[in-house]
Amino acid sequence: MQLQVERELLGAFDGRRRLVLLRLLQHELQQLSLRQPASRKQCTRLPVPGVLQEGGQPLRFRIGFGNDVHRLVRGRPLVLGGVGIEADLGLQGHSDADVLTHAVVDAVLGALGDGDIGRHFPDTDPSFKDARSLDLLRRVVEVMRGRGFRLNNLDATVVAQGPRLAPHISSMEEQLAAALDVSPDRVNVKATTTEGLGYCGRGEAMEAFAVVSLVGEE
Ligand SMILES: [Zn+2]
Repeated sequence: MQLQVERELLGAFDGRRRLVLLRLLQHELQQLSLRQPASRKQCTRLPVPGVLQEGGQPLRFRIGFGNDVHRLVRGRPLVLGGVGIEADLGLQGHSDADVLTHAVVDAVLGALGDGDIGRHFPDTDPSFKDARSLDLLRRVVEVMRGRGFRLNNLDATVVAQGPRLAPHISSMEEQLAAALDVSPDRVNVKATTTEGLGYCGRGEAMEAFAVVSLVGEE
């Protein structure tokens, strides 16, 4: 059948055009064969429509989002993603005011459907005064584990007009990955400015956004 089709079609052409048409036909037939029952067999039926699977089992999958803003003031250290950064201004807050880590904590809690950082670590509680936010993140990771989830990946953005954060990004990723108990390749941190616009652009504050995905532990 395949040869007959090729012969009939190719009869109308010759030379280079014939070769091009032959290549096109071969490509189309290869694509068709890929869609034949052999590949269809590999697709497993979903037990519930729309439920992702891993190894034939329903995959427990969550996404969470976190956002935080802290004011920049004199006389405070600047800590981002657990990394101390030399700067004229630092972030104001009850804990170390690590705005990036706070956004990550909120993203994980959001994925778990478990409220927010203020509910778990209220700023009226003196035990959290000057607390290292990475330690708070570790406690939230314990909550995540207790609920049977592990981190799949984290993507975060810090919005700051200055100082230049690029030299510190990989350290932040390493610190956050260690607290989240994953390899650093699952953590991505970006830094951006607002080109002088808004409260971040005027150097009054820093803001952070974080998105996480969690999967059920095997
Ligand atoms: Zn905060």
